[in-house]
Amino acid sequence: LTILGLESSCDDTAAAVVRQTGDTPAEVLSSVVFGQTELHSAYGGVVPEIAARAHAEKLDICVIEALKEAGVTLKDLDAVAVTAGPGLIGGVMSGVMCAKGIAAATGLPLIGVNHLAGHALTPRLTDGIAFPYLMLLVSGGHCQYLIVRGPEDFTRLGGTIDDAPGEAFDKTARLLGLPQPGGPSVQAEAENGDPKRFRFPRPLLDRPDCNLSFSGLKTALMRMRDQIVAEKGGLTRQDRADLCAGFQAAVVDTLAEKTRRALRLYLDENPASPTVAVAGGVAANTAIRAALQDVCAEAGAEFTAPPLRLCTDNAAMIAYAGLERFRSGARDGLDLTARPRWPLDQSSPALLGSGK
Ligand code: ATP
Ligand code: FE
Repeated sequence: LTILGLESSCDDTAAAVVRQTGDTPAEVLSSVVFGQTELHSAYGGVVPEIAARAHAEKLDICVIEALKEAGVTLKDLDAVAVTAGPGLIGGVMSGVMCAKGIAAATGLPLIGVNHLAGHALTPRLTDGIAFPYLMLLVSGGHCQYLIVRGPEDFTRLGGTIDDAPGEAFDKTARLLGLPQPGGPSVQAEAENGDPKRFRFPRPLLDRPDCNLSFSGLKTALMRMRDQIVAEKGGLTRQDRADLCAGFQAAVVDTLAEKTRRALRLYLDENPASPTVAVAGGVAANTAIRAALQDVCAEAGAEFTAPPLRLCTDNAAMIAYAGLERFRSGARDGLDLTARPRWPLDQSSPALLGSGK
């Protein structure tokens, strides 16, 4: 099977071709990503209207690139998969319209993919892990623990009740005048900092569940920053590094402890050969990866994390999730709709609630 995937739910326009023959591992034949960071940099965040226009302009070039790089033509494809939500609605619509155009012109089947399912199934594409597994999805807009039993079978154990960790990293960078996206710049600063100098809160650790909260870290950081500025008139390089290190340590500790709890819940149900996988942009953080690795080793679970370029938004994960849906017999019609919200554990649009 050869599947073309399209992704345009946030600020990356992406197209990719993924192929799987029989039971052999799936192969990424191409994965093209056009980022929009510069278009939004002056505004301090993604502007939905600008994003939607840029997607609409770039999608066709992106598809042509992806087909060329993969060495295939539209005739070699078996289906077109596209992110149908959740995300910024204008962008999602651009992608869905482009995919519909290709499907209508070629007669290829159309497969709508949940963006989060794309992230959550990535470890199957990169490491070929089997169902079921415990997934920690940590990205710019989401943070949740999921038991993944099949391409469309997800059970949510818990997640953030406010900000996503990626959002917290981005806000931290903004508050300290570091470049966006915040994750990599805060991580780099933290490497030279003392995580013990500032004591950040560890939210919700007193509760036994798998829920997390990150918005309090931003408030704490703002207070600490303002206090230093009031006392010394400004931040030194070291102050900034120590603040980043303290913030990152709080995120790492919280994620490690909640993962320990989610793993305990998961093991009650699936005691044989447990696997924990992490995905989403924040999974690129080396301190977070190391802590999760330790938690898994403690519990005798296997740990896997996709390579960075497949952790952040890309279309290979969409093509692959589409391939899994296609194999299970799923097909969508030209009436496929773009959804701004689409929780993973609810496939029915009638049940749509919070997108987090
Ligand atoms: P979603 O998938 O929830 O819609 P998104 O697509 O914007 O959100 P991703 O592309 O998966 O999110 O990830 C981007 C986020 O990952 C950004 O918030 C970025 O700061 C964060 N990030 C990237 N690298 C790192 C890192 N090394 N440490 C921490 N965070 C990181
Ligand atoms: Fe994403």
